[in-house]
Amino acid sequence: MATVEFVKCPTCKQKLALPDYMTVGTLVVCANERCGTSLRIVSRRPLRVEVVPEPETYTVDYRPESYG
Ligand SMILES: [Zn+2]
Repeated sequence: MATVEFVKCPTCKQKLALPDYMTVGTLVVCANERCGTSLRIVSRRPLRVEVVPEPETYTVDYRPESYG
């Protein structure tokens, strides 16, 4: 069973649970559906994440707030 560590989203302060098998460099998405920021694990001890800038090519198909 994986150990889970918690880290706060730099954007919205949502607490995120990251299993310990996620190594440095792993990309995660904020669990807050209103945020959804792409994050990359940059350190395990202590656990830290940084915001991943959306690639410019990505924005073409990106439709924010299109779910409702
Ligand atoms: Zn967030």
